[in-house]
Amino acid sequence: MNFIDLGAQYRNLKDKIDKRINAVLSHGKYIMGPEVFEFEQKLADYIGVKHAISCANGTDALQLCMMCLDVKPGDAVFCPTFTFFATAEVIAMAGATPIFVESDNSTFNICPIDLEKRIKGVLEEGVLNLKSIISVDLFGLPANYPKLKKIAQKYGLILIEDAAQGFGGQIGDKKAGSFGDISTTSFFPAKPLGCYGDGGAVFTDNDDFAELIKSYRVHGKGSDKYDNVRVGMNSRLDTLQAAILLEKLSVFPKEVELRNEIANLYNNSLPDDFVVPQIPPGYVSSWAQYTLMVDDREHLMQKLKSKDIPSMIYYATCMHQQSVFKDMNHLAKFPVSESIASSVMSLPMHPYLQSDDIKKISSILQD
Ligand SMILES: *Cc1c(COP(=O)(O)O)cnc(C)c1O
Repeated sequence: MNFIDLGAQYRNLKDKIDKRINAVLSHGKYIMGPEVFEFEQKLADYIGVKHAISCANGTDALQLCMMCLDVKPGDAVFCPTFTFFATAEVIAMAGATPIFVESDNSTFNICPIDLEKRIKGVLEEGVLNLKSIISVDLFGLPANYPKLKKIAQKYGLILIEDAAQGFGGQIGDKKAGSFGDISTTSFFPAKPLGCYGDGGAVFTDNDDFAELIKSYRVHGKGSDKYDNVRVGMNSRLDTLQAAILLEKLSVFPKEVELRNEIANLYNNSLPDDFVVPQIPPGYVSSWAQYTLMVDDREHLMQKLKSKDIPSMIYYATCMHQQSVFKDMNHLAKFPVSESIASSVMSLPMHPYLQSDDIKKISSILQD
């Protein structure tokens, strides 16, 4: 059994993807070819934002946001401690101070109550400038944006949505990638919408942000390509990846439905003593991961492995526990995040998982 079955998806789309790849090989516009702009337009339409700007990967997408917002030394940027490293990495890379925030015990996402506490703490200390929040749609579930937006407004913070995993998720009829003042995603192969290499994108309704991001992704170019008006980076999405993503995006809404059917199958077939993932009313997850908190993780994972079923730990280490960040926020405590990190286990999840596979997994966990 595969943890994520990219082969099954390719077999399903083979003719269309091969045709798209061949078209690129024929026209030869490998950098910023027509597929890149076609994909950006379709992405913007899908998310429901004015601008979708593609780039080289999800980490660059976040870094481009840091550059666009002029995040710098002396700035405080808040982010969840329970996330993938890149979320916190880009803050430190910009020279700013990441302020880690506790998780909500039932959704695993950033806890708005703890966020406000930590904002007040930074205000009282009076050393750092309040700049921004990077919230993460962990495992596919959008964070609590109704509350996060209020907090961001109250304290004048710019809200960045890291939808690397949340792409395809929703709150009401609004899509993940539209909740931040500026939002990002990743097309790493294992993400809900993945390409066949690295890729990423930035989303925003703000025309000024969009202009800046487009400049920063190509060496800080001005209106003339060879007049550089700022220092940027080289972070473009390859035309080949855009071509592949165009075909994958066309079946993506259907795949999100399939992922939800599979999550429901898990919810209904797992033994009663497992606490299944909690999706708040009105929210839709894109199920980047199907993740449980369990008491005897090592034992269960070993048992699954012995029957050839892969399982993974996302994530065993919080940001405040990372060697590089250990000296930061050293007085802060994160009991909820630490208990999540020490007990989470993710089961196979992809749109082509069979109901028999889920029955097999459930019966092993039943034992
Ligand atoms: C994967 C991921 C990223 C980084 O994306 P890459 O394309 O691998 O650079 C950032 N944030 C989160 C939450 C992620 O899961």
